Amino acid sequence: MALPQRLVLFLDGVGYRDLKALQDGILCTNGNQKVYRRAFDQGYYPVSRNISTFPSTSDVAWTEILGDRPLPGYQRTYFSDAADAEVAQNGVTTTLEFEKQMHWQMTSGFYRAMGYVHPHIIFRHELNAMTEAFLNATNISGNYYAMVRTTDDAQHTSGDILEMLCVLDGRLRALRENYKIREGRNLEILIVSDHGNNHAGPGKRVDVRTALEAAGYHIGETIRNPKDIVVPTAGIESWVEIHNAPSETQRLLLALSQLEGVDIVTACVPDRTNKFVVMNSKGDRALIAVDDNRFRYVPENGDPLDYRLVVENLAAKNKLGPDGFATANDWAAETMTHHYPLALERIVRAYTRITLNPATILVSLKNGYVHAGWLVKTASGLKTVGGTHGALDEVNSVGIVVSSFEETQDTSSDRVAGLFGGFPGLRNYRVDGSGAEWFSGEAQAMTVIKRMSLDDPASCPVPAGLFLRVWASAFGEGDDSVPLEIALEKTSRYPSVAVRGNNFQAPEVQRLVLGRPLPFRLSYERVYAVPPGLVLEPQRVYKISGWMRSEKLFAFSFRTDAQGKPVVY
Ligand SMILES: [Zn+2]
Repeated sequence: MALPQRLVLFLDGVGYRDLKALQDGILCTNGNQKVYRRAFDQGYYPVSRNISTFPSTSDVAWTEILGDRPLPGYQRTYFSDAADAEVAQNGVTTTLEFEKQMHWQMTSGFYRAMGYVHPHIIFRHELNAMTEAFLNATNISGNYYAMVRTTDDAQHTSGDILEMLCVLDGRLRALRENYKIREGRNLEILIVSDHGNNHAGPGKRVDVRTALEAAGYHIGETIRNPKDIVVPTAGIESWVEIHNAPSETQRLLLALSQLEGVDIVTACVPDRTNKFVVMNSKGDRALIAVDDNRFRYVPENGDPLDYRLVVENLAAKNKLGPDGFATANDWAAETMTHHYPLALERIVRAYTRITLNPATILVSLKNGYVHAGWLVKTASGLKTVGGTHGALDEVNSVGIVVSSFEETQDTSSDRVAGLFGGFPGLRNYRVDGSGAEWFSGEAQAMTVIKRMSLDDPASCPVPAGLFLRVWASAFGEGDDSVPLEIALEKTSRYPSVAVRGNNFQAPEVQRLVLGRPLPFRLSYERVYAVPPGLVLEPQRVYKISGWMRSEKLFAFSFRTDAQGKPVVY
């Protein structure tokens, strides 16, 4: 049985400058010793840049790299507009679409948590397990997709990333030799990363919360009046997202741009979908206008992105139209090695494409400064901190593309799939297991790489509105008439408090039977209309579970909006 033709390795958080240094050879300090390190210099083409999303963070960047439906938030703690509530998912135990699409990724929550404590040990464990899984993958002919996360963990905790990359190079060399003997041909290897790392050490915490409270704002989990703001925070990062009432954006922009440690502040212009503001800490201010896939940079006061030369070069090359607009690709070519690479399109995509719940303001911090919940920062103070990412600048944003089989070119998270046929043959996890989600054609239509009819408004068989999408291998060729039983359970609003206070109220449960699904046929998937009789309390958390022939197929939690409708994202 033959092995896959190509190993596509998604390697979290490896910056371009680190892999470039290793290909060129670099003298490193290891304790008191000098060590010459060199890797990925034999059997690979020169590494290319892969410019991340802004914020330059894993979940949004990987989702864009794979062309998946945008995530509900930039982070696993996010603010849902429809629910008017901050939603927290656990980053270690939740699994996102791009992770499920891997043929191999480390699934154990234990190992994932340990990755932060002993990244070098877990890294070797990850590589062993990944290699073993690849060598057993005789049912996949084309691309084999694997994701390795500890390379990012290591850099957050000051692990030696260059040493880890040398280990990886050695392991892949052994794998290639083994493969050559077994298959009689060369294994194709493609390595892609999602962002860089600023290697800026522990960083000084920017106290966004105190500064905003001093300016008269109330930081909470909902936006009910103009002074309410929500600042979803997870981990230690070099960027901040702010959700606020549009009437406050102007004032907040000014306040935030004057905060110590802030480098760049961006916002969408209230009530405009095609204009964005960018400011720097000196008070320089410019507008970004977008028209289709063309962008224009309009300095109002100074030059916050330091793009004067870029604009002059575009003009000199006749790439700037009379209206001042240039195409995304022309801006990309001109800013690929700039301090703020591809900034215009990345800022615009941050508010329009990469998440279903965009912020109103995004802040990019100077290297050496971080944003974190005080508890996270205090706890991590016990361990060393190596650096972070998320900001707009080059060290945070520039990941890698490197291949053993063809020359690559500098690219970006929204272009890289186009260079490799749209990353065909990702694992279709819906065939293997069972699950469900609320479905809205509008959100699904934002899927960039349309892998099935549901993704494409031109062919989507589901009308507008809210539906329940259920997948199960158990559906098989079975007939549609077997009903799906669902239970909806109201979970306590403040479960931990209620339980502690010993006044736990039994949750109310509603049971419903869903008849025939929509006449849309995929052997393992069905889409059901939401029954008109469904009445839910507004702004609550519910758990929905589903069974067919008494086999449990799914359970997940969701929120309701002010009208009691399930919130899709
Ligand atoms: Zn990452």
